[in-house]
Amino acid sequence: MMIVTMQPGASVAQIGAVLRHCQERDLRPVPSHGTERTVIGVIHADQRTDLSAVASLPGVDQVTPVSAALQLVSREFRDEPTVVHVGGVAIGGPEFVVMAGPCSVETEAQINACARQVGACGGRILRGGAYKPRTSPYSFQGLGEEGLQLLTAAGRAVGLPTVTEVMHPDLVETVARYADILQIGARNVQNYALLSAVGRVRKPVLLKRGLMTTIEELLMAAEYILAGGNGQVILCERGIRTFETSVRNTLDVSAVPVIKSQSHLPVILDPSHAAGKREFVPALALASLAAGADGIMVEMHPVPEEAYSDGRQSLDFPGFAALMDSLRPVGAALGRHVAAVRPDLTEASA
Ligand code: PEP
Ligand code: MN
Repeated sequence: MMIVTMQPGASVAQIGAVLRHCQERDLRPVPSHGTERTVIGVIHADQRTDLSAVASLPGVDQVTPVSAALQLVSREFRDEPTVVHVGGVAIGGPEFVVMAGPCSVETEAQINACARQVGACGGRILRGGAYKPRTSPYSFQGLGEEGLQLLTAAGRAVGLPTVTEVMHPDLVETVARYADILQIGARNVQNYALLSAVGRVRKPVLLKRGLMTTIEELLMAAEYILAGGNGQVILCERGIRTFETSVRNTLDVSAVPVIKSQSHLPVILDPSHAAGKREFVPALALASLAAGADGIMVEMHPVPEEAYSDGRQSLDFPGFAALMDSLRPVGAALGRHVAAVRPDLTEASA
């Protein structure tokens, strides 16, 4: 790849001419419009292609060849943080965004109650699995498309965008028809067909780190999505497999500063799948905020003991409300905003 840095005042026509020049030569230009200048990453499969002509086009400031595997995700390509916008929520900006909901969408009443509680407490995005990656083939596999319908309707009723997992390239279109954010689960982080498929979609992607993937491998997985033309990627650390057995996975808090130093993409943490036990979730959530994450994704259930999946790690409603209340003052001390409770959704006004 090479990085074409345009001059600060380069015109739309000059940028367009560079894009056309590349396209006519079978090069794939990926523009990134910053506040000061536009930078264009140019992907070329053939390393012998002569790229020198680009440097002399009007408006071009500099052409830098890059050889590393990390390109579009890197800070060298784009130094400004990427902010992912979804339904009025900005992930990667000053707000610490809380995504919450049940592990699985189970019934209409269950997801509606969750949506209301998430919104009431200041959660900004509703999660809920409809296609579930279960370790055992005999465990509940999710409600499928019906789950997507219930999730979207529940989110809409309280004004929350939704995030849900897509497990197969063939299902990307269906899931994208309902959900606002497409989740790639930990087990699929290196499913390159799936990554390429969500790269072609114009909806944000939440990419979870695998149980056994390094940060570099996670970033390269994200590179597939960006190279496919979708720059709206949120990375998620959800605990990795270590020798420790007292928690389900070990939350790698260091992933936050490491990723931030290498990439412009927003990073959230998932304390629920890391802890595996609800009593440890609040501490890890607070650590996520303190470490500089852009948000968290938390599992919550009206009756955790009866959940079809991940009940042991799911907060109950009062637990979630208490967590939200504990995040606010810490966020304020750190200059991160945590959304306020919504009186329109609290019990009294129901
Ligand atoms: C989930 O979010 O419910 C989930 C299955 O997560 P992970 O892919 O991180 O295990
Ligand atoms: Mn889960």
